[in-house]
Amino acid sequence: MEKLLISACLLGVTCRYDGKSKKAIDDIELERLGAKYELVPFCPEIYGGLPTPRIPSERIGDRVVMKNGTDVTENYNKGAAEALRIAELMGIKKALLKERSPSCAKSEIYDGSFTGKVVLGSGVAAETLKSHGIEVFSEYDVKKL
Ligand code: SF4
Repeated sequence: MEKLLISACLLGVTCRYDGKSKKAIDDIELERLGAKYELVPFCPEIYGGLPTPRIPSERIGDRVVMKNGTDVTENYNKGAAEALRIAELMGIKKALLKERSPSCAKSEIYDGSFTGKVVLGSGVAAETLKSHGIEVFSEYDVKKL
């Protein structure tokens, strides 16, 4: 069965910065995906060494910074590298990732001002996966999977 890397919070895992999940895909859709793919959950922020809950972060150019100003770029880069390592190790070619996350976003992120403004861009892990030929989907195009 083909494997699909999936943001763990989309499955209901409480790994988000606020200690909650983000189950943005309904159960019927998740069941359909589970029947078609072997789901491989991951959370790049946890794999990058950050705790849950944690202070929210946003991308500012090549850096990722917490709302209190702490630079966490290294954690995000490590999480992205681990995501890629797992994908390559397991022969994963597709990933379903949470939109607007500084790690997982496929095409929209917050602009780094912590004001809720959204701009075009990807999360660090999504960007890394894409640049290595892994096809990234978000919860908004789950029907393509
Ligand atoms: Fe979900 Fe990705 Fe954020 Fe982890 S890093 S909580 S998997 S969106």
